[in-house]
Amino acid sequence: MGLWIYLNGEYVSEEEAKISVFDHGFLYGDGVFEGIRAYGGKVFKLEEHLKRLYDSARAIALKIPLSKEEMKGKVLETLRRNKLKDAYIRLVVSRGKGDLGLDPLKCPHPEVIIIAHKISIYPKELYEKGLEVVVVSTRRNIPSALDPCVKSLNYLNNILAKIEANYKGVPEAIMLNKDGYVAECTGDNVFIVKNKVLITPPTWVGILKGITRDVVIHLARKEGISVREEVFTPAELYASDECFLTGTAAEVIPVTRVDGRIIGEGKVGEITKKLIRQFRRLTQTEGTPIYESQGG
Ligand code: PMP
Repeated sequence: MGLWIYLNGEYVSEEEAKISVFDHGFLYGDGVFEGIRAYGGKVFKLEEHLKRLYDSARAIALKIPLSKEEMKGKVLETLRRNKLKDAYIRLVVSRGKGDLGLDPLKCPHPEVIIIAHKISIYPKELYEKGLEVVVVSTRRNIPSALDPCVKSLNYLNNILAKIEANYKGVPEAIMLNKDGYVAECTGDNVFIVKNKVLITPPTWVGILKGITRDVVIHLARKEGISVREEVFTPAELYASDECFLTGTAAEVIPVTRVDGRIIGEGKVGEITKKLIRQFRRLTQTEGTPIYESQGG
């Protein structure tokens, strides 16, 4: 049996889940989205993801036609309808159907779509061996043009970086900001460890404020690891002792090679290992229950 998709107030089959070719999400990337995970029957950091979705929508003057509480109910109900316990949830709000012009005033009805699906993740061995990544030439969008803290449907900046990574035959790309400081990856935040201090770029560099990033910062501080939100350059990245990426889909994944340089000793470092363990533990214990809830 196929998937049940939430589409503007109804649960429809995958085949019936269609949007207009005049939808401005499709025509212009005008909309916002979230990627959320459920682990063992609980949705991880649901409130935080909903908050970011509604903040992103406000930043682009998009009024979501459901309250946060209603949206939460719909997310949980979508998981129940698909009998999922471990899943990746994609929540999309697009500007909706308009005409062929840009003007959002011509789009009176935003579209709300929730897709819950089985998650496809990096192979297990990459969490043990680490990824190879490259620093790409595509710079992250400058915040004064399109702020990366808005999780919009307009991901072409990231896709161009991904294309560069594909050409180099590696799974992720590290993007710099306009000044040449490390910003983030195409779908993940970046951390390094130097002299036992955990360092990640501050949000003003022009990055998405990742929810996994926040969780990892919190976990590290709880472990007594000192954490700094500080800019660093590719050269400092090459000379780091450990490096890892964080994101809802990738979770915490080590990086052991950047632009051909071996990071640390070429194996997963101790601080990274500890944070992977703590992160996994948290995803198994915390979250909004899917099946006990009355929402929907
Ligand atoms: N940066 C970008 C550009 C992303 O798309 C994502 C994934 N949503 C992240 C960072 C990581 O954010 P999160 O931990 O909230 O998934």
